[in-house]
Amino acid sequence: MSYRAPVADIAFTLKHGPGLAPALRQHGGLDADDIDAVLAEAGRYATEVLAPLNAPGDRHGTPFKDGRITMPPGWKEAYRGWVAGGWNAVAAPTEWGGQGLPHALNAACIEMWNEGSMAFGIGPVLTMGAAEALAAYGSDDLKRTYLPKLVSGEWMGTMQLTEPQAGSDVGALRTKAERAADGTYRITGQKIFITYGEHELTDNIIHFVLARLPDAPAGNKGISLFLVPKFMVNRDGALGARNDVRAHSIEHKLGIHASPTCTMVYGDNGGAIGYLVGEENRGLACMFTMMNLARLAVGLQGVAIAERATQQALDYARERKQGRALGATLGASGSSPIIEHPDVKRMLMTMRGLTRAARCICYATAGAIDRSHGDGEAAKAANDRAALLTPIAKAFSTDIGVEVASLGVQVHGGMGFIEETGAAQHYRDARIAAIYEGTNGIQALDLVTRKVSLNGGAVVRLYLDELRRSVKAVQATNDPAFGATGARLSEAVDSLDRATTWLLSKLDKEPQAALAGATPYLRLFGNTAGGCMLADEALTAMRLADGEPAARIAIARFFAENVAVQASGLERAVTEGADSVNSADAALTG
Ligand SMILES: Cc1cc2nc3c(=O)[nH]c(=O)nc-3n(C[C@H](O)[C@H](O)[C@H](O)COP(=O)(O)OP(=O)(O)OC[C@H]3O[C@@H](n4cnc5c(N)ncnc54)[C@H](O)[C@@H]3O)c2cc1C
Repeated sequence: MSYRAPVADIAFTLKHGPGLAPALRQHGGLDADDIDAVLAEAGRYATEVLAPLNAPGDRHGTPFKDGRITMPPGWKEAYRGWVAGGWNAVAAPTEWGGQGLPHALNAACIEMWNEGSMAFGIGPVLTMGAAEALAAYGSDDLKRTYLPKLVSGEWMGTMQLTEPQAGSDVGALRTKAERAADGTYRITGQKIFITYGEHELTDNIIHFVLARLPDAPAGNKGISLFLVPKFMVNRDGALGARNDVRAHSIEHKLGIHASPTCTMVYGDNGGAIGYLVGEENRGLACMFTMMNLARLAVGLQGVAIAERATQQALDYARERKQGRALGATLGASGSSPIIEHPDVKRMLMTMRGLTRAARCICYATAGAIDRSHGDGEAAKAANDRAALLTPIAKAFSTDIGVEVASLGVQVHGGMGFIEETGAAQHYRDARIAAIYEGTNGIQALDLVTRKVSLNGGAVVRLYLDELRRSVKAVQATNDPAFGATGARLSEAVDSLDRATTWLLSKLDKEPQAALAGATPYLRLFGNTAGGCMLADEALTAMRLADGEPAARIAIARFFAENVAVQASGLERAVTEGADSVNSADAALTG
């Protein structure tokens, strides 16, 4: 019952969906064989090296003593091997030592690292984001000193926004930055919940810290971004004195036990030396560069945990025998493998369908990010598409990560609740992804208030047209194996269209009503887009007679008839449920 990287599935979605197919044309030198080679090797590392560390890492955690953290046995070696393989640098710019490969290909790799171990996978995600922000906004000097080592992964990066009073409301942060005579800054204050804030995987840790200058405007417009190294770096590149930043303690958490989550203290001795990244008071814009990629990567964590939980549940359901399924093939004991019971089949198909749909959405988002690099109308349209899909990639995928991991526990029955099987760890680990990098509630607000209204609604309308083309294509097949796929998806797109029109009409005049329906709208969007993408995949597999067409048709059909079909209820929750939310105070007092 061990994890196997789903390399063939990933390759199919990547190569034939909107993830890599257009990027392949852009990256002239890259062909399908190169992609297969990268995916196979990433899959091998995730399966053979990372996955075996997952359960021991969960049990060991990251003990903290005298300011130091002990990582679980084998983690340092696994990280070093991973860096030596060049995996941190897959999508980084070539001028800083990166491989310049498409983000969509990196997304597939990120999925596999997180299937191996979510606690491992989250560290590199932050380092990659830090490198991206530095490449975009850092001075030449900062880039020369820090970028090559962040790109290679020789040093890890952190992302530091959260303070006790400033979580979702980043603008409430109080960490101070004061200008020093030499052009650097002195940082004082406290950050909480900092992932990989301290550890022993790398010789240096480069913190990216949001802080406020004394004369900064209040709120989001008064935040600046600083690079704060754990160890100062001398002119010759050697490590110098320890900077005035330390981990004060670590959190004891529900999951991802092997990812150290630290409280960081700045300024015990007058202030940590920080270097400004970008302009003063423009830090949030720089941080958003990190955060959009980090949000997609956290969405991929949802896909990853769902994939791993599904594999495990399928293995268990084939072996575990209970009861006698109607018309069953019986084992020696006279009972059937539980996979033959319709209710268990339903759970497994729900797991498989949600996982595949979320993968399609995440890879499509990564592909849009790739295509957005450059000038011209096409790049601008891709940028809009990435902006629209990012909150869905993050929130839909991590919500289904929790649901699928929960179903994984259910398929195991009582054994799912017992730690020994590992199903419980997936469920515990999955939970954080819906919270960090902007809670899923905040993603839904972002979708409704900023993304749906992009270009006056033209961006979302264009996407709806695309979904309708998928529906038409599946309706045109007339293949009975698709059942009611075309009809159910058509209804789902209609529901999404009406809910979108309703939201656009409310945003200015009754924003409170629009906000009340944000989360069901995001789910409606994810279910509908995911359903259409699964249908696209099934049609492609049929056309190519490759990629297990029968299985893909079965998944697309199940999803349309059992998941996308919930669209009308979600539409009603958006368009008719707001009043019951906003007038509910009586039920929430006392
Ligand atoms: C394990 C772990 C690792 C983390 N790693 C990092 C890290 O590396 N760097 C970092 O900076 N932070 C990190 N965080 C912090 C994380 O990003 C925050 O916990 C998260 O953004 C939510 O903030 P909060 O906990 O203050 O919750 P709150 O902001 O208090 O939110 C509580 C609830 O209220 C809702 N809510 C809040 N405001 C609104 C609103 N305006 N409208 C609607 N609903 C709202 C939220 O959706 C949520 O459901 C980490 C947290 C954890 C637990």
